[in-house]
Amino acid sequence: MLLQDRVALVTGASSGIGRATAKLFARHGARLVVAGRDEARLSSVAASIEAEGGQVLALAGDVRDEGHVRALVDTAVDAFGGLDIAFNNAGALGPMGPTPSVSREDWGDALDVNLTAAFLGAKHQLPALVTRGGGSLIFTGTFVGHTVGFPGMAAYAAGKAGLLGLVKALAAEFGGQGVRVNALLPGGTDTPMGRSVANGPEALAQVTQLHALQRLASPEEIAGSALYLASDLAAFTTGTAVLADGGVSIKR
Ligand code: NAP
Repeated sequence: MLLQDRVALVTGASSGIGRATAKLFARHGARLVVAGRDEARLSSVAASIEAEGGQVLALAGDVRDEGHVRALVDTAVDAFGGLDIAFNNAGALGPMGPTPSVSREDWGDALDVNLTAAFLGAKHQLPALVTRGGGSLIFTGTFVGHTVGFPGMAAYAAGKAGLLGLVKALAAEFGGQGVRVNALLPGGTDTPMGRSVANGPEALAQVTQLHALQRLASPEEIAGSALYLASDLAAFTTGTAVLADGGVSIKR
């Protein structure tokens, strides 16, 4: 029970890594606010957490909407008395393909969901974490554009790379108030997003061979690393990028 008496917020909880993490956090005693756009899938995640005896509130919305992001924090504070952990995990691939063909609008949309939404999350979550005397702020980055450059993924790579600067700045800014800020960088993971890239036998083989472990991660395996960063096991870990990438970074 690594998160007993903690209150955690998880975005992108309607699917994949966020869903697995919300369930794992709940099993470790956290009370949860979960978010995603798809209300039906989000409700089913909340129901499965409740079925295991967890306490959870679900709030559907778009992380690009500052009002929604603020409401997530307000819900945690009003319903559970505060906020200790925020896993800003929602993300989207955005435009894929040759960079000269990417429109200004699609570029902006990708940065909005992968980077600006993280800033909005931090902006509203940090005061609540400070009020509690500290906590853990986590952003989901990626190996794409960090250890491997992928053709045709410039907007996604640039947005996710921006998270690493955000993490370092916030870790320095709020370390004195007990807030740890880290990025979690998964390798290829078997989720709808992962499968949209590894979308056939050939593409899947190409992606898996990038990994020393020669396979995709399960969402539950990435959730384990999120649990580590959220918990006191990572009490002296801040301002860094934690790779849970199956060895992509050492596979050349
Ligand atoms: P996923 O199963 O497709 O889940 C993506 C989640 O993000 C969904 O819950 C989705 O909610 C939410 N989301 C997307 N856009 C949103 C928006 N504008 N507002 C609110 N929520 C939004 O993919 P996943 O693999 O679990 O992805 C989770 C994170 O891991 C992402 O940040 C992704 O970039 C990162 N990542 C994934 C991989 C991989 O191989 N899968 C590798 C490295 C990093 P709705 O569906 O309800 O809209």
